[in-house]
Amino acid sequence: MEFRQSSKLSEVCYEIRGPVIEHADALEEAGHSVLRLNTGNPALFGFEAPEEIVQDMIRMLPKAHGYTDSRGILSARRAVAQRYESMGLANIRLDDVYLGNGVSELVSMAVQALLEDGDEVLIPAPDFPLWTAVTTLAGGKAVHYLCDESSDWYPDLDDMASKITDRTRAIVVINPNNPTGAVYPKEVLEGILDLARRHHLMVLADEIYDRIVYDDAVHHPLASLAPDLVVLTFGGLSKTYRVAGFRSGWLVVTGPREHARNYLEGLTMLASMRLCPNAPAQYAIQAALGGRQSIDELTAPGGRLYEQRDRAWEKLNEIPGVSCVKPKGALYAFPRLDPAVHRIHDDEKFVLDLLLREKIQVVQGTGFNWPRPDHFRILTLPHADDLDAAISRIGRFLGGYRQ
Ligand code: PLP
Repeated sequence: MEFRQSSKLSEVCYEIRGPVIEHADALEEAGHSVLRLNTGNPALFGFEAPEEIVQDMIRMLPKAHGYTDSRGILSARRAVAQRYESMGLANIRLDDVYLGNGVSELVSMAVQALLEDGDEVLIPAPDFPLWTAVTTLAGGKAVHYLCDESSDWYPDLDDMASKITDRTRAIVVINPNNPTGAVYPKEVLEGILDLARRHHLMVLADEIYDRIVYDDAVHHPLASLAPDLVVLTFGGLSKTYRVAGFRSGWLVVTGPREHARNYLEGLTMLASMRLCPNAPAQYAIQAALGGRQSIDELTAPGGRLYEQRDRAWEKLNEIPGVSCVKPKGALYAFPRLDPAVHRIHDDEKFVLDLLLREKIQVVQGTGFNWPRPDHFRILTLPHADDLDAAISRIGRFLGGYRQ
């Protein structure tokens, strides 16, 4: 008797760690060195964990061997509440903060607690595909609203409005955005909130990159603009604090919780079912949030992330038939391959061919639920010279590539 995967997985897709990885692993086993530009993992590119976080975790380790409260330890939840109050979110109580094993776990819990079979969630295209995957797994329907490349990748509010039905329960906003690097202006956020207000939708604000912004971009926490709406704000240590492997994140509920009492009971039950988040990683939160914000040095002119973002953007735009909107935040660029020049019909094959030929691994645009095979995502995490070399190789590859 063969054991088969659940049919619930048949529509679930998660390409960032998808099948191309097996080919990359095989290449490495055969002795090739593969430049892996597929996951936003700062540790792989020489970003050290801030010393104060590591030291605090080591110091607390002997005391962190028991289960904790299932929402998480109070000192960390207090630090999270204070962080967001200082960013303009009102009246956060400690019970409004849930800690998790990364934002990923909390996204899954938040969506599972909400959806009946067939309920719809508005999710951006392109998206960070976890949102689509967990919605589908929870029996819901991911309905993608388009982000407009010709308007700096801001959400197309008309498209969003046209996709709201009586089954729509929530809107997901990823800001700063993975994969596009967009940081949304206040007017766009207000437009989204108006729709949520008019249609009684929960707002799910994935703001894990909120401190990673460049140039004149300003990140406006969505919840700070909508104290009258139930907003779940997601954040964590993986990116800003470069400790993705610690698996430490949080979710903060704001707005009229009395309209979400029953939902929050469900969320709390899911939090108890996983017993608690990894305890040592919870101790890292207070140290991180109370510490010196070294991320600002990395994103300011002359800082490593800033320079790399610039170099990636410039080099990509030098390739004939490639254009890239300048990322204003996060750790990625999402260039367009002009279909008149490159004629790519299957972008997963394109990514695989690039890997096999140049030993560079990127992720195809359709892996982010982008509807056409004309984009890919590249990280801006490698050193500028490595990015330079990698993008030159991508350009050379594209020059001779035919599908
Ligand atoms: N949300 C977005 C937009 C992301 O890009 C990522 C990771 O890449 C996550 C959530 C998940 O982060 P975590 O490591 O906290 O699970």
